[in-house]
Amino acid sequence: MPFCPKCRYEYNPEVKECPDCGEKLVASLGPDPNQGELFDTVVLYKVPDEITGLALRSFLLDAGIEAVLQDMQASFYGSVLTGMQGYWGKVIVAKEQESRARELLAEFKQDFPGD
Ligand SMILES: [Zn+2]
Repeated sequence: MPFCPKCRYEYNPEVKECPDCGEKLVASLGPDPNQGELFDTVVLYKVPDEITGLALRSFLLDAGIEAVLQDMQASFYGSVLTGMQGYWGKVIVAKEQESRARELLAEFKQDFPGD
């Protein structure tokens, strides 16, 4: 099915140009940059400190996994809550990449043995 790259609507195969905006239709749409926040995510790993978090994140990115490092201190009320939770932050990945990410996490832990 052809899509309009501008409106992101899907049209019948015989349609060649978007009736709305006149754009030439394309066979498929790439990821919508505006929808980046909306994909399903899971918490892959709770990291004890920032250095581990950054190392794990770049390790995942190198392997093509879209990983986000979330700092609990930035999200909540400083170190009090962080201390209560017992970790510094968490690494979040897209749900569809979770199983691959977990394999990589196991590798990562071998390279950087924690406590
Ligand atoms: Zn259009």
